[in-house]
Amino acid sequence: PEPPAGEAVPQAGDPDLVLLRRIGVVDPASLDDYRANGGYAALREALRMGPSAVIREVSDSGLVGRGGAAFPTGRKWDGTAKRPETPRYVICNADESEPGTFKDRVIMEGDPFSVIEALTIAGFANNANHGYIYIRGEYPRALSLLENAIELAHARNLLGRDILGSGFDFDIEIRRGAGAYICGEETAIFNSIEGLRGEPRSKPPFPVERGVFGKPTAINNVETLVNVLPIMMMGGPAYAAIGTGRSTGPKLFCVSGSVERPGVYEVPFGASLRDLMEMCGGVGTGPEGEPRLPRAVLLGGAAGGFVRGDELDIPLTFEGAREAGATLGSGVILVLDDTVDLAAILVRIAAFFRDESCGQCVPCRVGTVRQEEALVRLAQDAGPRRTDIALLREVGEAMRDASICGLGQTAWNAVESAIDRLGVFGPQEEQPVKEAR
Ligand code: NAD
Ligand code: SF4
Repeated sequence: PEPPAGEAVPQAGDPDLVLLRRIGVVDPASLDDYRANGGYAALREALRMGPSAVIREVSDSGLVGRGGAAFPTGRKWDGTAKRPETPRYVICNADESEPGTFKDRVIMEGDPFSVIEALTIAGFANNANHGYIYIRGEYPRALSLLENAIELAHARNLLGRDILGSGFDFDIEIRRGAGAYICGEETAIFNSIEGLRGEPRSKPPFPVERGVFGKPTAINNVETLVNVLPIMMMGGPAYAAIGTGRSTGPKLFCVSGSVERPGVYEVPFGASLRDLMEMCGGVGTGPEGEPRLPRAVLLGGAAGGFVRGDELDIPLTFEGAREAGATLGSGVILVLDDTVDLAAILVRIAAFFRDESCGQCVPCRVGTVRQEEALVRLAQDAGPRRTDIALLREVGEAMRDASICGLGQTAWNAVESAIDRLGVFGPQEEQPVKEAR
């Protein structure tokens, strides 16, 4: 059995937490406990404000998507709400599958009513009467807790017809994934919900115009949605004062790898990687008590990028990560100490992308195979290095430029940064790709 969600949150019980404050504190199966700890105050506030004021607060908050792409949530909701077509839909993307990402599981298992409440507010703001939660199939505990939360919310008129006497009707249906990483891509979710093969669609049109069943759809990640609750309570401008620059609010980070206390951590945007490393006890020591050094940190997951162990002063903001040649993505902080075989990690990442490519478009279907083959040769020192690195660059650029969806477009990110930033296969000489091949 998996450990309770609270055990994955080393800060559990800290009263300063915003997003994680109920995790490990409330009984996730009890609506009464949720309400006694502030639950459903945000929905009442939203119903009082009205849909357009809710969207205004969300826009003023500067909230951007926490699934990885950081698109402004207020803009997304505004785009959906103003479409003339009906019905409109809202979807909670709970198909959390990015390697090293486990924050949404912790929220759903530790505070499931917050997800239901936030999706109800999204439905209200977007003038949608039906919502879906598309949940990863490998999250059975989260699934049963969400099912329980929906049932209890119905029984108390927090879902269903005329919610709390407001005249707003809203229902939530859960759909379960079946193990495919690509089904977390938003348009593949639409296909999956519609009973079609789980493959991404070309964008545009964006979901705000044509989403599930061809109708305007606001689809948001779990963490993005639960941020709406404090925004309703404190107001958009006060929320925007947390964090720095264009990275506003609190952020969850999934810390794993060579650290003393792995888990989900909440910090305001702008804390440095070093601050976070200190919170989780640093890289610690080896089996004989010898000190370890951080060799590299993978930021943003398999689709993200590596930074070196001597770059820990990077601010954890979207801008800071970008300047460091990485991305915050879905909040992955995978720490690798000086004993880790980086080439083996790259082969593992490449195998993951090869395995999870849906095969719909050629650059990704073929490119992920070629990438893995070249990395295996490099890891085994079994081929001409210059040629294989040049091949990786050429294949990587083709995937980035010509793939339909984010999987193919980002499949080379981590490998590229490991080669260029970490020098995993030795110093790179400038060389035109074609000549080297
Ligand atoms: P994207 O940039 O295509 O879109 C981001 C969001 O903004 C989408 O909802 C999209 O519909 C919307 N959008 C973009 N432009 C728009 C416009 N002009 N008008 C209206 N809406 C617009 O990114 P994506 O492919 O949805 O996501 C890629 C990210 O997902 C990567 O950063 C990756 O790290 C992350 N990811 C996360 C997980 C996870 O488990 N959390 C898994 C895989 C990938
Ligand atoms: Fe499928 Fe890859 Fe094309 Fe995405 S980029 S649609 S995963 S083949």
